[in-house]
Amino acid sequence: MKKVQFSNFKHKVIFFRVFTILCFVMLILNAVVSLTLGGKMLSVGEAQIPGSSLNGCIQAVMALIGIILVLTDHKKGLVVFCIVMGLSIVGVVRTIIVTHNLSIAPGAFNAVLFIIAIALISGQIKYSNKMAETDSTTGLLNRYAFDRDMRKVLWQGGKGCVAFIRIEGFSPVNANLGRRYVDELKNVVADRISSVIDSKCTAYKIESAEYAVIFPKADDVETVIDRTLHSIEQAITLNKDGVDSNCYLTAYAGIADYGESAKDADTVMKHADIAMNYAVKSGTVKYCRFNDELKEGMERQTVVENMVKDSLQNGWFYLVYQPQYTAEDKRLRGFETLIRMNVPNGEKIAPSEFISIAEMSDLVLDIDTFVLDRAMREFREVCYSSGNTITLAVNISAKDIARSGFAEKLLGIIEETQFPPECLEVEITEYSFAEEGNRTIENIKILRDNQIMIALDDFGTGYTSLGQLMNLPINLVKIDKSLIDNILRNDVNTDFVKSIIYMGHLMDAEVIAEGVEHDNQVECLKNLDCDFIQGYIWGRPMEYDEARELAFGAYD
Ligand code: C2E
Ligand code: MG
Ligand code: MG
Repeated sequence: MKKVQFSNFKHKVIFFRVFTILCFVMLILNAVVSLTLGGKMLSVGEAQIPGSSLNGCIQAVMALIGIILVLTDHKKGLVVFCIVMGLSIVGVVRTIIVTHNLSIAPGAFNAVLFIIAIALISGQIKYSNKMAETDSTTGLLNRYAFDRDMRKVLWQGGKGCVAFIRIEGFSPVNANLGRRYVDELKNVVADRISSVIDSKCTAYKIESAEYAVIFPKADDVETVIDRTLHSIEQAITLNKDGVDSNCYLTAYAGIADYGESAKDADTVMKHADIAMNYAVKSGTVKYCRFNDELKEGMERQTVVENMVKDSLQNGWFYLVYQPQYTAEDKRLRGFETLIRMNVPNGEKIAPSEFISIAEMSDLVLDIDTFVLDRAMREFREVCYSSGNTITLAVNISAKDIARSGFAEKLLGIIEETQFPPECLEVEITEYSFAEEGNRTIENIKILRDNQIMIALDDFGTGYTSLGQLMNLPINLVKIDKSLIDNILRNDVNTDFVKSIIYMGHLMDAEVIAEGVEHDNQVECLKNLDCDFIQGYIWGRPMEYDEARELAFGAYD
């Protein structure tokens, strides 16, 4: 049975009240009819019908209203209907006693049947609602329930806090042990959240790796969140084939107040999201409460966007190149092109900041075109002198590679700059396959037909599983720095990197580790059969002249 949906609580309450009043009006009408026409016969044209049959009709209408009431609110609807039908039964019994006429007795019987029917419908709705609002893995309330409850507390004028909690660390477990163990972890996280928070607070599971808590009060939330994150990050023991292994998750949270400054659910959720993303990206804090500073962050977006526009127009962008080496014997493989912004006032803006802001608009497409053109012009000579064995990697945004016409644009630049296509490698991320995956694949096919290589950047940070990786048409897998940072932390992490390298080789691709900073990481990667190394340990991003010299030195 489809549940009646309301866009807001005000409409729902008005709707419910109107039908409650209608139900009572029907009850009064029923009483009037049974008192005035109860035992009489009515003439309708030629036919004679008993007056009590009108009561049957009115009861049927009341049953229909009862259904509408329980569909609107299964609990209150049932209560209203039971009261109305109860009164109707009392009325029937009273009339029978007063008039000694049993002709209206079936009315009482009908009323009992209607109560049973509506109670069954209400029970079924209660059950379906429970299923619809419960996360099947953890048993917590789900995203749908969260949206509903959020709107409800705001409508009731509540003032409190919402916390979004993001968990990192499910991917390696999924790859190594399987989905069942990830479900086990999700359950443990749900239990830990529920055991720390107060009984007045409600916990929800709103995304695959995100939980939420609604706090009815705004005080002391930070302390509770701190304890919650601490609890989540304690070791979780998983048992596979009788062998116990400890697994560690990382948790971040964003807190947002509701009721005072944010008065609608979407704003509260946006604030909690901004605060949580801030905590995830900051690298310094585990949780963060939405405040004016973060609001200023949103304003900063506008400033940076304008700087990107100015940089494109005034030539403030330049390129640096980071060397990549073979892991085995440190031979130069090539360079990754990285963009830098040189604003005249000396302000330094990190590429990760201005690229992610440019990605929110089409500005990133102009950046990609600039980088492709400049990098190929600068490196053409270096590539030729290496006998076209050196690789020049260029980062391309997900938005660009998923556009029809991207491959043609790139081939046009290759022709114009006379760059050897076999030296070019296009770095994309898994997000490129998300929304316009087919167009990405079409572009990749054209590029590969023209000898251009494809690298999958930042692998291990998103949701692509090792199984899905097998089906991506790529030549090189770039293991993200976050996995390299933790490679020696525990066996699960080492095994995850090992699996990526193994799968990469299985699909005939090569594998490079990004952000390698320590000797013991290099040793470990060599042992795991990783093909290439990129990182500060062997070379930081350098300006063109230095990169050129390095390349000429390597290939002389
Ligand atoms: P990415 O493509 O994954 O690039 C690797 C980033 O890691 C670079 O940061 C690089 O400087 C840094 N890195 C490399 N080795 C190490 C290391 O050993 N330790 C540490 N701490 N960092 C290391 P960068 O240049 O700040 O770029 C950040 C991100 O911005 C890039 O990540 C890429 O996603 C984006 N980006 C940079 N240049 C471009 C570009 O020309 N076009 C596009 N679309 N995106 C770009
Ligand atoms: Mg890259
Ligand atoms: Mg990367």
